[in-house]
Amino acid sequence: FFFVAMSSDEEDYVEYEDEEYVDSDGEHPQHEAADISNVLLEDDMLEVKSRGYFVGLDSNRIECSVWVGFPLSFFTKDLLFACGLDHAKSVAVKLVFTDPPVYGSRCPTVKDKHIFIRQTTKRDFSTLGLSDCEPFGLWWTLEQRLSEYLQQEWKEISLGQQRTMERLREREKLASSKNIKHLMEIHAVSREVAKLALVHSNNHLDCATDLLFDEKKKLELQKEGKNSAAPQVRSVDGINMLLKCLHCVQKRIEDCTRFCIVCDKPHPLQLLKPTVCSEDLCNFQFTNMGLGINIENEIVKSPQACDLLISMTTGASFSGRHFEPFPTVEAVFTTPSGESRKISFDRNKPREVGEVLQKCPSISKMIDMIKRGCLREELEAVHPLLYKLLRWIVGTNRCHLHYLTDSSMRVEGVHTEHQFILRSTPPEKERAFKQLKQEHRGTFYAFHGSGLGNWHSILRLGLKNFSGTEKQSHGAVYGPGIYMAVDGATALFYAGYGHVGTGWQHSQFGASVKCSALCEIVNYGPEDGKHCTGQLHRPKCKHSTSSPHYRVEMEELVVTRYLFIYANKINNTGVLAKDLKIPKNATV
Ligand SMILES: [Zn+2]
Ligand SMILES: [Zn+2]
Repeated sequence: FFFVAMSSDEEDYVEYEDEEYVDSDGEHPQHEAADISNVLLEDDMLEVKSRGYFVGLDSNRIECSVWVGFPLSFFTKDLLFACGLDHAKSVAVKLVFTDPPVYGSRCPTVKDKHIFIRQTTKRDFSTLGLSDCEPFGLWWTLEQRLSEYLQQEWKEISLGQQRTMERLREREKLASSKNIKHLMEIHAVSREVAKLALVHSNNHLDCATDLLFDEKKKLELQKEGKNSAAPQVRSVDGINMLLKCLHCVQKRIEDCTRFCIVCDKPHPLQLLKPTVCSEDLCNFQFTNMGLGINIENEIVKSPQACDLLISMTTGASFSGRHFEPFPTVEAVFTTPSGESRKISFDRNKPREVGEVLQKCPSISKMIDMIKRGCLREELEAVHPLLYKLLRWIVGTNRCHLHYLTDSSMRVEGVHTEHQFILRSTPPEKERAFKQLKQEHRGTFYAFHGSGLGNWHSILRLGLKNFSGTEKQSHGAVYGPGIYMAVDGATALFYAGYGHVGTGWQHSQFGASVKCSALCEIVNYGPEDGKHCTGQLHRPKCKHSTSSPHYRVEMEELVVTRYLFIYANKINNTGVLAKDLKIPKNATV
């Protein structure tokens, strides 16, 4: 009975003979199955490796653990950023088989703690251990999904493995391990060549020896050995469990923004970041079990974006209406008398959320706490719900907000230096947008202004779902759709409407700010408003002859590009979207 370990750099094997399991003639029928499984594992690992994945084996008498993985650079930068993943790291999947410790002996499940998904900086998986790995935002979700997938596919996987093992058994019958070993020692040939010599001579050791003494035939065998790598067995009829797992995990990372990360229900609206659905239970698990994001990382990595998100939620809380989605956060609080009580926010008292946020220390103070390793402790001392509320605020944002510190990256001509890149479109929608841009006459830019608190909803529910409904503070007076203005002043008028002075008092941008987004719009339909086809209404089109705005009903025609933050007093008069100088890379 051999345990096979594979070094990740070379194509050779190291074999450890386990004396206890080898009886006098070296062929123990009881362990034949395990032996064949090892050959199967060896084959599966070889194939996985040949496809550029990482692979490693950690086997002993109690458990057989297989590691497989891939570098995160497999994915696009946008996706990695949205998921808080580091392209220099790798995803590592550990599958454990115990009782018996044989590859494929039973379906690994999360419940049995036989599936682990982590990230690691190591690329050599042959010596990988859990201590070299760390959890990341999606580990819980990916483990659940892989577990469900394996259970669902297990019948097929087992059957496939059975079929492959039948073939392997045939092959092994023709070349017993003992004879292979003998030939390898005597003739100093590789395992594959020794095996082939035996296959060609029906496992007669003498015949095989003769074959290998013939230099010409030996060369032929070596050539054949190189060509007939073991994985060929697999491609004929088998199923490679490791490969299936890798594909499942890869696909799940690619699709992570499409489904709730807790219950796996598809999101009605696909935005850029993975998050939970609106079910209270999912929200609860997300915020209270620490799924999804690492708030400490987010604050350090994107301090301005976190600052703005807190301001927007504060604004939504004080706006007195349409505080959607509402934070479902729960904490256990110990009263001075020692009894513990569960507390949460009350939907009927939305201002409470803002009042708690006003007590939240500034971002720079929080970064200090993170450095001292006591953010959670200190925030919970301020208010028992504060830490979880911040996690919820940052974790439920579904757009990519990137503060532009480099002035050359900013849009020239807008009266503010506080500019963010704002992206809400997932890659395939972005592709569809580019397609539309080509089919119609290019694009133009326009502003979308909305009250500070409304942005809380827009970043989570999307522009379309928010616009053109009773939620829009000024109402959809000219009909449904996303309203756009070509001049900055009009947009800011809407941005300030009814929401002055209601932001976060510790924000670096000030307590009283206005936001407007610069959007790119496909130049769709006839220019002349008399012939308006309805998807994109130009100012004073036949549907709304007095409207000074662009009104977009077809959501696919609009993507957000920038978000501008203005101090309250600025009015942006005379700023026209068409005159702005937009850095080239903005639309890439
Ligand atoms: Zn859900
Ligand atoms: Zn129209």
